[in-house]
Amino acid sequence: MEKLNKGLSQRVNLAGVKFALQLFTTKRRNALAHVGVKNISAVDWSKVKASGFKGCVFDKDNTLTSPYSLCFHPEVKDSFADCIKAFDGKVALLSNSAGLSQYDPHGEEANAIEKKLGVPVLRHKKKKPAGEPGLLEKHFEAQAHELVMVGDRTFTDVAYGNSLGMLTVKCEPFTSKGENLFVKLARKIEALLVLLLRAAGCKPPQHDLVAREATLATFTKA
Ligand SMILES: [Mg+2]
Repeated sequence: MEKLNKGLSQRVNLAGVKFALQLFTTKRRNALAHVGVKNISAVDWSKVKASGFKGCVFDKDNTLTSPYSLCFHPEVKDSFADCIKAFDGKVALLSNSAGLSQYDPHGEEANAIEKKLGVPVLRHKKKKPAGEPGLLEKHFEAQAHELVMVGDRTFTDVAYGNSLGMLTVKCEPFTSKGENLFVKLARKIEALLVLLLRAAGCKPPQHDLVAREATLATFTKA
């Protein structure tokens, strides 16, 4: 039984499932990103920075690279460099594989990504959307709500960022190739849920640094 539980928890993100269930109660706003883009090349990073944000946290797979790849996806390479420039290098990766103690206990994968992509990979113990107190604050020397979370998944990246009071940017995945069945199914549920929430008039959580909705519109390029 223990073996079965362990196997299941490796395939299924239990924190993600827990979050999904909470959406039917009080936390439904946390499923909605403040900014939605095809990929990060549509984000105007200097405008985001000018609004008072102090750093950006990126998911890796299907946000910056194809799954398991160690090279930037060609469509986002320049934009990521723009982001690093706009935020004076205050950019880091938070992955549910590399740097996560469960899958990368010695940080070998995180080291390889840091070497190849030239960006710090946060070492952490809990899978997104579960947060670890102080992880981001320590790395960025800023409050979590002064940071931006960028990722392609609602139940992990968006939920994580919103639950910590961050600005959330959701991009579309580059590909579903290489993703397991659970992730494919989760994506379908996420898309349906977001559609239903938006149809019901639900909005993303309020953010102090973007009090006016018009400000959010300036974060994406026309
Ligand atoms: Mg991803």
